[in-house]
Amino acid sequence: MNKDIATPVRTRAILEKYGFSFKKSLGQNFLIDTNILKKIVSFANLGENSGAIEIGPGIGALTEQLARTSKKVVAFEIDQRLLPILNETLSPYPNVDIIHNDVLEADVQKVMDEKFYGIDDIMVVANLPYYVTTPIIMKLLEDKLPIRGIVCMLQKEVADRISAAPGTKNYGSLSIAIQYYMEAETVMIVPKTVFVPQPNVDSAVIRLIRRVQPAVQVMDEGFFFQVTRSSFAQRRKTLLNNLTSQLPDGKQKKEEILRALSASGIDPTRRGETLSLEEFGRLSDELYPYFH
Ligand code: SAM
Repeated sequence: MNKDIATPVRTRAILEKYGFSFKKSLGQNFLIDTNILKKIVSFANLGENSGAIEIGPGIGALTEQLARTSKKVVAFEIDQRLLPILNETLSPYPNVDIIHNDVLEADVQKVMDEKFYGIDDIMVVANLPYYVTTPIIMKLLEDKLPIRGIVCMLQKEVADRISAAPGTKNYGSLSIAIQYYMEAETVMIVPKTVFVPQPNVDSAVIRLIRRVQPAVQVMDEGFFFQVTRSSFAQRRKTLLNNLTSQLPDGKQKKEEILRALSASGIDPTRRGETLSLEEFGRLSDELYPYFH
């Protein structure tokens, strides 16, 4: 087997050979711990017929581990300077394709159709660039890609918000936006020392597994998310206050909002953070006719 890319010695040698300088603006914090990389891959439960999509391969540390455990890896990398490096480091792995693109601009579905023909178990596995963690995860979910799930490294603080349960201080519209589509759990806390350069924040790995159906059935998904965002606009305000101040013409529709709250069995003095997804679902369906 080839020597791991991620050992500190090999990583340093690769970076020196190419005179590579890290770009903070691209969230470049590379992993230099093979054990952590193997653990991340193990959380994805890949088999020899699985496919993996990686975002931001860097110099290929995680890509290599994915290539060894799955049938096909497709990795999106925005930084052109990394392409010649990846070309060398990943040359032993013919099952890897690098796509030079900003993942936020990419037509991921099209790439999947082209690259994963005949593969029906596909996971996204990544050490995400921290400046765009949430937009990347939301894009993957909103595009409704046929993936089994996502295993990714991200800021611990964002991981806490994504996997938070109702009634806890981290629970908010991000928890709901993600838990609507996925079962979410934090599977590992990661020390700063396993990166070069070390990030300023603590890190964690989360696992998101796609639900067969969204967590709640609602009349209109867009409106459901609008209601949840509105409910958390000011965390210390009551649900009624947030809804009247945030929904369009909410102040004039206070009576209707009260009626919808009552019909869904929710006390208007409660705060958004105490509502379950199911309660938000009921509430948005009751509010829907008054706003359409
Ligand atoms: N996977 C490598 C590792 O674990 O060592 C590198 C991870 S590093 C945290 C993030 C990577 O994402 C960098 O290689 C960076 O250039 C790339 N990146 C940043 N923004 C991106 C974007 N919008 N689309 C694709 N790649 C991006």
